[in-house]
Amino acid sequence: MTVNQAFRYELEPTVRQRRLLAKAAGTARYAFNWGLALCKRLLNAGKPVPPAVELHRLWNAEKPRRSWVFDVSKCCGQEALRDLDRAFGNFWRGRKEGHRVGFPRFRRKHGRRDSFRLTGSIKVHPRSVTLPRIGCVRTKETTEKFRGRILSATVSREADRWYVSLAVEVERDDPQPVEGPVVGVDLGLTSLAVLSDGTLLESPKPLAKVQRRLRHRQRLHNRKQRGSRNRRKSAAGLARLHRRIRCQRTDSLHQTTTALAKTKSVIVVEDLAVHGMIRNRHLSRSIADSGWSEFRRMLEYKTQWYGSQLVIAPRFYPSTKTCSACGHVKTEMPLGDRVFRCEACGLEIDRDLNAARNLASLVAGSSPETQNACGAEGSGQEKGLVKPAAVKQEPLSRQPTAAAVGNKRR
Ligand SMILES: [Zn+2]
Repeated sequence: MTVNQAFRYELEPTVRQRRLLAKAAGTARYAFNWGLALCKRLLNAGKPVPPAVELHRLWNAEKPRRSWVFDVSKCCGQEALRDLDRAFGNFWRGRKEGHRVGFPRFRRKHGRRDSFRLTGSIKVHPRSVTLPRIGCVRTKETTEKFRGRILSATVSREADRWYVSLAVEVERDDPQPVEGPVVGVDLGLTSLAVLSDGTLLESPKPLAKVQRRLRHRQRLHNRKQRGSRNRRKSAAGLARLHRRIRCQRTDSLHQTTTALAKTKSVIVVEDLAVHGMIRNRHLSRSIADSGWSEFRRMLEYKTQWYGSQLVIAPRFYPSTKTCSACGHVKTEMPLGDRVFRCEACGLEIDRDLNAARNLASLVAGSSPETQNACGAEGSGQEKGLVKPAAVKQEPLSRQPTAAAVGNKRR
């Protein structure tokens, strides 16, 4: 099967290359903002936003007046405008479907992230990557061998480091279906996740340590005078710390999702909206949210790679309120209650474990041969709780491109 996979490496640019990278990123940002300003003007005048092709044409007409854009690859501007087009597309679609997608925003010069995308002749060598108009840039680690076609390279800056992410169309062997149990996964607040077989997946310890330090540094930062040199220095330090946290979290998510996809035949998780709406009120939202959606996204493509199956529970399935032994549904299960106590059968069980078992039983009901493997009590089905038909199965090839973009490490 053909999947789109991303290979990401940290770059080790020379001083000259660093300047070129910054210039390319600056041009991309400029083109994006130029296009956005144009679109805003048109919208205010009651005209529609021009399609991407038209934007390109206008941009090309604009270029001779800004000769510095010729110092970098023409892709920088073009791809930035394509991003703008996509941002508008998401915005309109969000409006139509009732999601909250923000109106495209101007890119800031001193933002935390800077990036640009290149297409065309991109080459990968064992310890370097050749990019159009920038040349051969060393990578900090050896690159991987892959068979496939390179579609594009996205170069981004995080704090003071540069990364390249190659989008590659990779040919993968079709996987053998994984022989293993069905497992329900409840993503926890205190631990990373709880599996229906009782396994507790801990969040990595260093993460908590760095997070404490982050809070401290954030406080110090807030006391520094705006616009001062000290404030800028501490901002850079903060950005490095943020990056470290992000890396550690991503790494643990990768380990967990790979292990799950390789050993379980079916993985059942809760619908993400449930987490967002109900369970997450007391946590630092952004951290938890991104972790959960990453978890789900990784499972989506890894289950395809390794031959297991991902099942998303229906949005209003009461996995936390239902007794996993007898199927009794509580009217209420406050967030603070760590233990589930059933009024009907007297079961006392960890809240997250109970939810994980309920998730697993969603699938156990649909195919008899997986019932034993799942280990969930069968009595839940008699209550008419389990409706296999209601289980939303993610079609395997729903998003052949976006879903399969992964990290190069696994
Ligand atoms: Zn019960």
